[in-house]
Amino acid sequence: MTTHVDGYLRHIMGVCSADSSGAVADYIPELACVDPDGYGLSMCVHDGNVYSQGDSGVTFTIQSISKPLTYALVLSRLGPAQVDARIGVEPSGEAFNEISVDAERRPRNPMINAGAIMAASLLLPPVREVAASTVDSVFGELVEFYSGCAGRYLELDEDVYRSEAQTGARNRAIAYMLDSFGVVDTDPESALDLYYRQCSLRVTTDDLSVIGATIANGGLNPRTGRQIMTQEVAQRVLSVMTTCGMYDGAGDWVTSVGLPAKSGVGGGILAVLPGQLGIGVYSPRLDRHGNSVRGIDTCRHLSTDLGLHMFNLTRESRVTIRATYDIGEFEVGEDWTERERSYLRTSRDRVRVYELQGDLTFSGAEAAMRRLEDDIDRYDVAIVDISRIGIVDPVARTMVLTFKHTLDDRGQRGMVVDPDGVMRASVDRHRNDRVIPDIVAPEALRGFDPTLPHVHATMAEALTDAEAFLLKQRYGPDDGFDGV
Ligand code: GLN
Repeated sequence: MTTHVDGYLRHIMGVCSADSSGAVADYIPELACVDPDGYGLSMCVHDGNVYSQGDSGVTFTIQSISKPLTYALVLSRLGPAQVDARIGVEPSGEAFNEISVDAERRPRNPMINAGAIMAASLLLPPVREVAASTVDSVFGELVEFYSGCAGRYLELDEDVYRSEAQTGARNRAIAYMLDSFGVVDTDPESALDLYYRQCSLRVTTDDLSVIGATIANGGLNPRTGRQIMTQEVAQRVLSVMTTCGMYDGAGDWVTSVGLPAKSGVGGGILAVLPGQLGIGVYSPRLDRHGNSVRGIDTCRHLSTDLGLHMFNLTRESRVTIRATYDIGEFEVGEDWTERERSYLRTSRDRVRVYELQGDLTFSGAEAAMRRLEDDIDRYDVAIVDISRIGIVDPVARTMVLTFKHTLDDRGQRGMVVDPDGVMRASVDRHRNDRVIPDIVAPEALRGFDPTLPHVHATMAEALTDAEAFLLKQRYGPDDGFDGV
Protein backbone atom coordinates (compact mmCIF):
# COMPACT_ATOMS: atom_id res chain seq x y z
CA MET A 1 0.00 0.00 0.00
CA THR A 2 1.37 3.46 -0.76
CA THR A 3 1.31 5.72 2.22
CA HIS A 4 -0.47 9.00 2.40
CA VAL A 5 2.90 10.73 2.64
CA ASP A 6 3.65 9.60 -0.91
CA GLY A 7 0.36 11.18 -1.94
CA TYR A 8 1.31 14.49 -0.31
CA LEU A 9 4.70 14.52 -2.02
CA ARG A 10 3.16 13.70 -5.39
CA HIS A 11 0.60 16.42 -4.91
CA ILE A 12 3.23 19.03 -4.08
CA MET A 13 5.24 18.00 -7.15
CA GLY A 14 2.13 18.28 -9.30
CA VAL A 15 1.61 21.84 -8.12
CA CYS A 16 5.26 22.88 -8.56
CA SER A 17 5.82 21.18 -11.90
CA ALA A 18 3.60 23.77 -13.61
CA ASP A 19 6.50 26.22 -13.34
CA SER A 20 9.10 25.70 -16.04
CA SER A 21 10.81 29.05 -15.67
CA GLY A 22 14.54 29.41 -15.13
CA ALA A 23 17.43 28.00 -17.12
CA VAL A 24 19.82 25.09 -16.78
CA ALA A 25 23.34 26.21 -15.76
CA ASP A 26 25.61 26.38 -18.78
CA TYR A 27 28.64 28.28 -17.49
CA ILE A 28 30.10 24.85 -16.88
CA PRO A 29 29.36 23.47 -20.38
CA GLU A 30 28.87 19.87 -19.29
CA LEU A 31 26.11 20.89 -16.86
CA ALA A 32 23.94 21.93 -19.80
CA CYS A 33 23.64 18.29 -20.95
CA VAL A 34 20.84 17.37 -18.55
CA ASP A 35 17.11 16.94 -19.10
CA PRO A 36 15.72 20.35 -18.07
CA ASP A 37 12.42 18.72 -17.08
CA GLY A 38 13.96 16.26 -14.63
CA TYR A 39 12.23 16.50 -11.27
CA GLY A 40 12.78 14.32 -8.22
CA LEU A 41 11.83 14.56 -4.56
CA SER A 42 12.88 12.40 -1.61
CA MET A 43 12.32 12.60 2.10
CA CYS A 44 14.24 10.53 4.66
CA VAL A 45 12.64 10.44 8.10
CA HIS A 46 14.35 9.87 11.43
CA ASP A 47 14.38 6.07 11.31
CA GLY A 48 15.84 6.01 7.79
CA ASN A 49 12.64 5.35 5.88
CA VAL A 50 12.90 7.13 2.51
CA TYR A 51 9.91 8.37 0.51
CA SER A 52 10.90 8.82 -3.15
CA GLN A 53 8.97 10.46 -5.95
CA GLY A 54 9.61 11.38 -9.60
CA ASP A 55 13.21 11.23 -10.79
CA SER A 56 14.51 10.30 -7.37
CA GLY A 57 16.93 7.77 -8.84
CA VAL A 58 18.44 10.08 -11.48
CA THR A 59 21.99 11.20 -10.72
CA PHE A 60 23.21 14.77 -11.05
CA THR A 61 26.31 16.52 -9.73
CA ILE A 62 26.20 17.65 -6.14
CA GLN A 63 27.93 20.99 -6.87
CA SER A 64 27.66 23.46 -4.00
CA ILE A 65 25.73 21.02 -1.82
CA SER A 66 29.22 19.60 -1.27
CA LYS A 67 30.17 22.73 0.66
CA PRO A 68 28.51 21.88 3.99
CA LEU A 69 29.99 18.37 3.79
CA THR A 70 33.54 19.49 3.20
CA TYR A 71 33.08 22.06 5.95
CA ALA A 72 31.94 19.23 8.24
CA LEU A 73 34.97 17.17 7.30
CA VAL A 74 37.39 20.05 7.98
CA LEU A 75 35.69 20.77 11.31
CA SER A 76 35.99 17.10 12.23
CA ARG A 77 39.68 17.13 11.39
CA LEU A 78 40.82 20.48 12.77
CA GLY A 79 38.20 21.46 15.34
CA PRO A 80 36.21 24.70 15.36
CA ALA A 81 38.93 27.04 16.68
CA GLN A 82 41.36 26.37 13.87
CA VAL A 83 38.65 26.44 11.24
CA ASP A 84 37.16 29.69 12.56
CA ALA A 85 40.57 31.33 12.27
CA ARG A 86 40.45 30.65 8.52
CA ILE A 87 36.77 30.78 7.50
CA GLY A 88 34.07 33.10 8.89
CA VAL A 89 30.47 32.23 9.66
CA GLU A 90 28.76 35.47 8.62
CA PRO A 91 26.25 35.58 5.76
CA SER A 92 27.78 37.49 2.89
CA GLY A 93 24.55 38.65 1.26
CA GLU A 94 26.36 38.19 -2.01
CA ALA A 95 26.39 35.76 -4.91
CA PHE A 96 28.03 32.33 -4.46
CA ASN A 97 31.01 33.16 -6.64
CA GLU A 98 31.62 36.65 -5.23
CA ILE A 99 35.23 37.35 -4.34
CA SER A 100 34.28 38.10 -0.78
CA VAL A 101 36.46 38.24 2.37
CA ASP A 102 36.19 40.02 5.72
CA ALA A 103 38.56 42.53 7.34
CA GLU A 104 40.87 39.69 8.39
CA ARG A 105 40.88 38.42 4.84
CA ARG A 106 38.98 35.32 5.79
CA PRO A 107 36.30 34.12 3.35
CA ARG A 108 33.05 35.24 4.94
CA ASN A 109 31.54 31.77 5.22
CA PRO A 110 32.03 28.20 3.99
CA MET A 111 28.94 28.23 1.73
CA ILE A 112 30.35 30.68 -0.83
CA ASN A 113 33.03 29.51 -3.24
CA ALA A 114 35.82 31.43 -1.49
CA GLY A 115 35.05 29.67 1.81
CA ALA A 116 34.58 26.30 0.15
CA ILE A 117 37.90 26.49 -1.72
CA MET A 118 39.51 27.51 1.57
CA ALA A 119 37.90 24.54 3.30
CA ALA A 120 39.23 22.20 0.59
CA SER A 121 42.70 23.74 1.00
CA LEU A 122 42.62 22.95 4.71
CA LEU A 123 42.32 19.24 3.95
CA LEU A 124 45.63 19.29 2.08
CA PRO A 125 49.10 19.28 3.64
CA PRO A 126 50.54 22.79 4.30
CA VAL A 127 53.22 22.60 1.65
CA ARG A 128 53.48 24.48 -1.62
CA GLU A 129 54.06 21.43 -3.72
CA VAL A 130 51.45 18.74 -3.33
CA ALA A 131 51.91 15.46 -5.19
CA ALA A 132 49.02 14.37 -7.42
CA SER A 133 48.84 11.13 -5.45
CA THR A 134 48.30 13.14 -2.26
CA VAL A 135 45.35 14.99 -3.81
CA ASP A 136 44.00 11.59 -4.89
CA SER A 137 44.21 10.14 -1.43
CA VAL A 138 42.67 13.21 0.23
CA PHE A 139 39.88 13.05 -2.34
CA GLY A 140 39.46 9.38 -1.46
CA GLU A 141 38.92 10.30 2.20
CA LEU A 142 36.49 13.03 1.17
CA VAL A 143 34.47 10.58 -0.93
CA GLU A 144 34.50 8.18 2.00
CA PHE A 145 33.04 10.86 4.24
CA TYR A 146 30.34 11.97 1.79
CA SER A 147 29.46 8.35 1.08
CA GLY A 148 29.14 7.71 4.81
CA CYS A 149 26.56 10.49 4.97
CA ALA A 150 24.68 9.16 1.93
CA GLY A 151 24.92 5.52 3.00
CA ARG A 152 26.07 4.62 -0.51
CA TYR A 153 29.33 4.90 -2.38
CA LEU A 154 29.31 8.11 -4.47
CA GLU A 155 31.05 8.36 -7.81
CA LEU A 156 32.77 11.13 -9.72
CA ASP A 157 31.30 12.49 -12.94
CA GLU A 158 34.51 12.69 -14.96
CA ASP A 159 32.98 14.82 -17.72
CA VAL A 160 31.65 17.47 -15.36
CA TYR A 161 34.93 17.44 -13.45
CA ARG A 162 36.92 18.08 -16.64
CA SER A 163 34.48 20.72 -17.78
CA GLU A 164 34.71 22.54 -14.43
CA ALA A 165 38.47 22.44 -14.40
CA GLN A 166 38.67 23.80 -17.94
CA THR A 167 36.25 26.64 -17.41
CA GLY A 168 37.00 27.54 -13.80
CA ALA A 169 38.56 30.94 -14.42
CA ARG A 170 36.53 32.60 -11.74
CA ASN A 171 37.27 29.96 -9.12
CA ARG A 172 40.92 30.15 -10.06
CA ALA A 173 40.75 33.91 -9.54
CA ILE A 174 39.23 33.35 -6.09
CA ALA A 175 41.90 30.81 -5.09
CA TYR A 176 44.75 33.02 -6.28
CA MET A 177 43.28 36.08 -4.64
CA LEU A 178 43.18 34.18 -1.32
CA ASP A 179 46.73 33.05 -2.00
CA SER A 180 47.83 36.62 -2.66
CA PHE A 181 46.52 37.51 0.80
CA GLY A 182 48.86 34.90 2.23
CA VAL A 183 46.03 32.86 3.77
CA VAL A 184 46.44 29.66 1.73
CA ASP A 185 48.98 27.24 3.18
CA THR A 186 48.93 24.74 0.39
CA ASP A 187 49.17 24.69 -3.39
CA PRO A 188 46.16 26.68 -4.70
CA GLU A 189 45.93 24.48 -7.82
CA SER A 190 45.58 21.36 -5.68
CA ALA A 191 42.90 23.04 -3.55
CA LEU A 192 41.01 23.96 -6.73
CA ASP A 193 41.38 20.45 -8.08
CA LEU A 194 39.92 19.01 -4.88
CA TYR A 195 37.09 21.53 -4.97
CA TYR A 196 36.20 20.72 -8.61
CA ARG A 197 36.19 17.04 -7.83
CA GLN A 198 33.96 17.37 -4.79
CA CYS A 199 31.49 19.44 -6.85
CA SER A 200 31.44 16.72 -9.53
CA LEU A 201 30.31 13.86 -7.31
CA ARG A 202 27.07 12.30 -8.49
CA VAL A 203 24.07 12.05 -6.20
CA THR A 204 20.34 11.33 -6.39
CA THR A 205 17.61 13.02 -4.36
CA ASP A 206 17.47 9.82 -2.28
CA ASP A 207 21.13 10.39 -1.42
CA LEU A 208 20.51 14.02 -0.53
CA SER A 209 17.62 13.08 1.73
CA VAL A 210 19.77 10.56 3.60
CA ILE A 211 22.62 13.08 3.90
CA GLY A 212 20.04 15.53 5.27
CA ALA A 213 18.67 12.99 7.73
CA THR A 214 22.21 12.21 8.89
CA ILE A 215 22.83 15.88 9.66
CA ALA A 216 19.33 16.16 11.19
CA ASN A 217 20.19 13.21 13.44
CA GLY A 218 23.29 14.79 14.92
CA GLY A 219 25.62 13.04 12.48
CA LEU A 220 24.25 9.52 12.86
CA ASN A 221 23.21 8.02 9.52
CA PRO A 222 19.77 6.54 10.28
CA ARG A 223 20.09 3.93 7.52
CA THR A 224 23.48 2.54 8.35
CA GLY A 225 23.61 3.34 12.06
CA ARG A 226 27.09 4.82 11.62
CA GLN A 227 28.11 8.03 13.36
CA ILE A 228 29.64 10.05 10.52
CA MET A 229 30.25 13.34 12.31
CA THR A 230 29.84 14.49 15.88
CA GLN A 231 26.75 16.18 17.21
CA GLU A 232 28.77 19.44 17.56
CA VAL A 233 29.87 19.37 13.95
CA ALA A 234 26.33 18.65 12.75
CA GLN A 235 25.04 21.57 14.80
CA ARG A 236 27.61 23.88 13.27
CA VAL A 237 26.82 22.76 9.75
CA LEU A 238 23.11 23.36 10.35
CA SER A 239 23.90 26.83 11.67
CA VAL A 240 25.80 27.93 8.58
CA MET A 241 23.26 26.30 6.29
CA THR A 242 20.58 28.35 8.06
CA THR A 243 22.36 31.69 7.80
CA CYS A 244 24.32 31.28 4.56
CA GLY A 245 22.96 28.26 2.69
CA MET A 246 20.66 30.00 0.28
CA TYR A 247 23.04 32.86 -0.56
CA ASP A 248 21.54 36.30 -0.91
CA GLY A 249 18.02 35.25 0.02
CA ALA A 250 18.89 33.82 3.44
CA GLY A 251 16.57 36.08 5.47
CA ASP A 252 13.57 35.44 3.30
CA TRP A 253 14.35 31.73 3.20
CA VAL A 254 14.52 31.35 6.96
CA THR A 255 11.36 33.37 7.41
CA SER A 256 9.23 31.67 4.83
CA VAL A 257 10.66 28.13 4.64
CA GLY A 258 12.55 27.76 7.88
CA LEU A 259 14.64 24.74 6.89
CA PRO A 260 18.44 24.86 6.87
CA ALA A 261 19.28 24.21 3.23
CA LYS A 262 21.94 24.21 0.55
CA SER A 263 21.49 24.43 -3.19
CA GLY A 264 23.78 23.51 -6.07
CA VAL A 265 23.91 24.65 -9.70
CA GLY A 266 23.40 21.02 -10.74
CA GLY A 267 19.75 21.61 -9.74
CA GLY A 268 19.76 19.94 -6.32
CA ILE A 269 18.61 21.28 -2.99
CA LEU A 270 19.27 19.65 0.35
CA ALA A 271 16.99 20.75 3.20
CA VAL A 272 16.99 19.59 6.80
CA LEU A 273 14.46 19.69 9.60
CA PRO A 274 16.75 19.36 12.63
CA GLY A 275 15.99 16.35 14.76
CA GLN A 276 13.51 15.02 12.27
CA LEU A 277 14.16 14.58 8.58
CA GLY A 278 16.15 15.30 5.45
CA ILE A 279 14.81 16.36 2.04
CA GLY A 280 16.41 16.13 -1.40
CA VAL A 281 14.92 17.90 -4.42
CA TYR A 282 16.19 17.99 -7.98
CA SER A 283 15.09 20.14 -10.89
CA PRO A 284 17.84 21.69 -12.98
CA ARG A 285 16.24 24.96 -14.11
CA LEU A 286 17.78 27.69 -11.99
CA ASP A 287 16.83 31.22 -10.99
CA ARG A 288 19.29 34.10 -11.30
CA HIS A 289 20.87 33.20 -7.94
CA GLY A 290 21.71 29.71 -9.14
CA ASN A 291 18.99 28.01 -7.07
CA SER A 292 16.59 25.45 -8.56
CA VAL A 293 13.28 27.22 -9.27
CA ARG A 294 11.07 24.21 -8.63
CA GLY A 295 13.34 23.08 -5.84
CA ILE A 296 12.71 26.30 -3.94
CA ASP A 297 9.00 26.18 -4.62
CA THR A 298 8.89 22.54 -3.51
CA CYS A 299 10.61 23.41 -0.23
CA ARG A 300 8.16 26.25 0.33
CA HIS A 301 5.24 23.89 -0.15
CA LEU A 302 6.72 21.20 2.05
CA SER A 303 7.25 23.74 4.78
CA THR A 304 3.79 25.30 4.57
CA ASP A 305 1.66 22.30 3.70
CA LEU A 306 3.36 19.84 6.01
CA GLY A 307 4.16 22.34 8.76
CA LEU A 308 7.92 21.72 8.56
CA HIS A 309 9.22 25.18 9.49
CA MET A 310 11.85 24.60 12.17
CA PHE A 311 10.13 27.13 14.43
CA ASN A 312 6.71 25.55 13.99
CA LEU A 313 5.33 25.43 17.56
CA THR A 314 7.38 24.74 20.61
CA ARG A 315 7.31 21.08 20.89
CA GLU A 316 8.74 17.77 21.73
CA SER A 317 10.30 17.19 18.38
CA ARG A 318 9.25 13.58 18.05
CA VAL A 319 6.06 11.86 18.88
CA THR A 320 6.65 8.43 20.13
CA ILE A 321 4.42 5.43 20.25
CA ARG A 322 4.47 5.01 23.97
CA ALA A 323 2.91 1.57 23.90
CA THR A 324 0.94 -0.72 21.66
CA TYR A 325 -1.07 -3.71 22.85
CA ASP A 326 -4.20 -5.70 22.16
CA ILE A 327 -7.12 -5.48 24.56
CA GLY A 328 -6.57 -8.86 26.21
CA GLU A 329 -5.98 -7.09 29.52
CA PHE A 330 -9.39 -5.45 29.53
CA GLU A 331 -12.53 -7.20 30.78
CA VAL A 332 -15.18 -7.94 28.19
CA GLY A 333 -18.15 -5.53 28.50
CA GLU A 334 -20.93 -6.62 30.92
CA ASP A 335 -23.85 -5.68 28.76
CA TRP A 336 -23.46 -8.24 25.99
CA THR A 337 -25.19 -11.61 25.95
CA GLU A 338 -23.29 -14.70 26.98
CA ARG A 339 -22.82 -15.79 23.36
CA GLU A 340 -21.52 -12.34 22.45
CA ARG A 341 -19.22 -12.23 25.44
CA SER A 342 -17.72 -15.58 24.64
CA TYR A 343 -17.07 -14.47 21.06
CA LEU A 344 -15.51 -11.25 22.32
CA ARG A 345 -13.25 -13.21 24.68
CA THR A 346 -11.78 -15.05 21.70
CA SER A 347 -11.17 -11.93 19.61
CA ARG A 348 -9.36 -9.61 22.03
CA ASP A 349 -6.31 -9.63 19.75
CA ARG A 350 -8.31 -8.11 16.87
CA VAL A 351 -8.37 -4.75 18.64
CA ARG A 352 -5.04 -2.94 19.01
CA VAL A 353 -4.37 0.18 21.00
CA TYR A 354 -1.63 2.66 20.02
CA GLU A 355 -0.75 5.14 22.76
CA LEU A 356 0.98 8.23 21.41
CA GLN A 357 2.80 10.91 23.35
CA GLY A 358 4.37 14.28 22.53
CA ASP A 359 3.09 16.93 20.15
CA LEU A 360 1.61 15.54 17.01
CA THR A 361 3.18 17.18 13.96
CA PHE A 362 4.03 15.80 10.52
CA SER A 363 6.98 13.66 11.64
CA GLY A 364 5.17 12.08 14.55
CA ALA A 365 2.04 11.40 12.55
CA GLU A 366 4.16 9.94 9.77
CA ALA A 367 5.89 7.53 12.14
CA ALA A 368 2.69 6.58 13.94
CA MET A 369 0.58 6.09 10.82
CA ARG A 370 3.35 4.06 9.16
CA ARG A 371 3.30 1.77 12.17
CA LEU A 372 -0.46 1.38 11.97
CA GLU A 373 -0.14 0.69 8.27
CA ASP A 374 2.56 -1.95 8.80
CA ASP A 375 0.30 -3.63 11.35
CA ILE A 376 -2.83 -3.35 9.21
CA ASP A 377 -3.46 -7.10 9.00
CA ARG A 378 -3.08 -7.55 12.74
CA TYR A 379 -6.29 -5.84 13.80
CA ASP A 380 -9.88 -5.14 12.86
CA VAL A 381 -10.03 -2.10 15.11
CA ALA A 382 -7.16 0.29 15.79
CA ILE A 383 -7.61 2.63 18.74
CA VAL A 384 -5.25 5.60 18.69
CA ASP A 385 -4.99 6.97 22.20
CA ILE A 386 -3.94 10.62 22.06
CA SER A 387 -4.63 11.45 25.71
CA ARG A 388 -0.93 12.23 26.19
CA ILE A 389 -0.68 14.43 23.12
CA GLY A 390 -0.34 18.15 23.79
CA ILE A 391 -0.95 19.68 20.39
CA VAL A 392 -2.16 18.33 17.07
CA ASP A 393 -1.18 20.40 14.06
CA PRO A 394 -3.37 20.48 10.96
CA VAL A 395 -1.38 18.18 8.74
CA ALA A 396 -1.04 15.60 11.52
CA ARG A 397 -4.77 15.72 12.17
CA THR A 398 -5.44 15.25 8.49
CA MET A 399 -3.06 12.29 8.40
CA VAL A 400 -4.70 10.58 11.36
CA LEU A 401 -8.18 11.15 10.05
CA THR A 402 -7.28 10.17 6.50
CA PHE A 403 -5.85 6.93 7.83
CA LYS A 404 -9.01 6.37 9.81
CA HIS A 405 -11.03 6.71 6.59
CA THR A 406 -8.69 4.28 4.86
CA LEU A 407 -9.53 1.74 7.56
CA ASP A 408 -13.25 2.40 7.24
CA ASP A 409 -13.01 1.88 3.49
CA ARG A 410 -11.26 -1.46 4.04
CA GLY A 411 -14.02 -2.64 6.36
CA GLN A 412 -11.86 -2.08 9.44
CA ARG A 413 -12.29 0.65 11.98
CA GLY A 414 -10.13 3.46 13.31
CA MET A 415 -10.94 5.12 16.63
CA VAL A 416 -9.38 7.95 18.54
CA VAL A 417 -9.39 8.43 22.31
CA ASP A 418 -9.18 12.16 22.89
CA PRO A 419 -10.27 13.03 26.46
CA ASP A 420 -9.03 16.63 26.36
CA GLY A 421 -10.44 17.38 22.97
CA VAL A 422 -7.09 18.22 21.35
CA MET A 423 -8.47 17.13 17.97
CA ARG A 424 -11.39 19.47 18.40
CA ALA A 425 -9.10 22.27 19.61
CA SER A 426 -6.98 21.73 16.53
CA VAL A 427 -10.02 21.97 14.30
CA ASP A 428 -11.08 25.20 16.03
CA ARG A 429 -7.64 26.76 16.00
CA HIS A 430 -6.95 26.02 12.38
CA ARG A 431 -10.44 26.33 10.99
CA ASN A 432 -9.31 28.48 8.08
CA ASP A 433 -6.03 26.76 7.30
CA ARG A 434 -5.39 25.37 3.91
CA VAL A 435 -4.24 21.83 4.56
CA ILE A 436 -3.43 20.29 1.22
CA PRO A 437 -7.14 20.37 0.36
CA ASP A 438 -6.77 18.75 -3.04
CA ILE A 439 -5.43 15.50 -1.69
CA VAL A 440 -7.64 14.99 1.28
CA ALA A 441 -11.01 16.11 -0.06
CA PRO A 442 -13.59 14.86 0.00
CA GLU A 443 -13.23 11.92 2.42
CA ALA A 444 -10.95 13.56 4.90
CA LEU A 445 -13.13 16.60 5.04
CA ARG A 446 -15.47 14.35 6.98
CA GLY A 447 -12.59 14.29 9.40
CA PHE A 448 -12.81 18.00 10.00
CA ASP A 449 -16.16 17.57 11.66
CA PRO A 450 -15.48 17.80 15.39
CA THR A 451 -18.53 15.68 16.11
CA LEU A 452 -16.82 12.87 14.23
CA PRO A 453 -17.99 9.38 15.11
CA HIS A 454 -15.44 7.10 16.78
CA VAL A 455 -13.61 9.94 18.49
CA HIS A 456 -14.16 9.02 22.12
CA ALA A 457 -13.62 10.81 25.39
CA THR A 458 -12.52 7.68 27.27
CA MET A 459 -10.87 4.36 26.60
CA ALA A 460 -13.93 2.61 28.11
CA GLU A 461 -16.19 4.18 25.50
CA ALA A 462 -13.78 3.23 22.74
CA LEU A 463 -13.70 -0.37 23.98
CA THR A 464 -17.48 -0.62 23.95
CA ASP A 465 -17.54 0.82 20.44
CA ALA A 466 -14.82 -1.62 19.36
CA GLU A 467 -16.73 -4.58 20.82
CA ALA A 468 -19.92 -3.45 19.07
CA PHE A 469 -17.98 -3.31 15.83
CA LEU A 470 -16.58 -6.83 16.29
CA LEU A 471 -20.05 -8.17 17.04
CA LYS A 472 -21.54 -6.46 14.03
CA GLN A 473 -18.77 -7.92 11.91
CA ARG A 474 -19.42 -11.40 13.35
CA TYR A 475 -23.20 -11.56 13.52
CA GLY A 476 -24.28 -8.83 11.09
CA PRO A 477 -26.23 -5.69 11.93
CA ASP A 478 -29.57 -7.46 12.60
CA ASP A 479 -28.47 -10.43 14.57
CA GLY A 480 -25.79 -9.26 16.91
CA PHE A 481 -27.48 -7.47 19.73
CA ASP A 482 -30.69 -9.30 20.48
CA GLY A 483 -29.33 -11.87 22.85
CA VAL A 484 -30.19 -14.83 20.63
N1 GLN B 1 31.14 24.07 -9.05
C1 GLN B 1 30.33 25.23 -9.02
C2 GLN B 1 31.19 26.48 -9.02
O1 GLN B 1 32.13 26.53 -8.31
C3 GLN B 1 29.47 25.19 -7.77
C4 GLN B 1 28.59 26.39 -7.66
C5 GLN B 1 27.24 26.13 -7.08
O2 GLN B 1 26.72 25.03 -7.09
N2 GLN B 1 26.60 27.17 -6.59
O3 GLN B 1 30.94 27.40 -9.73
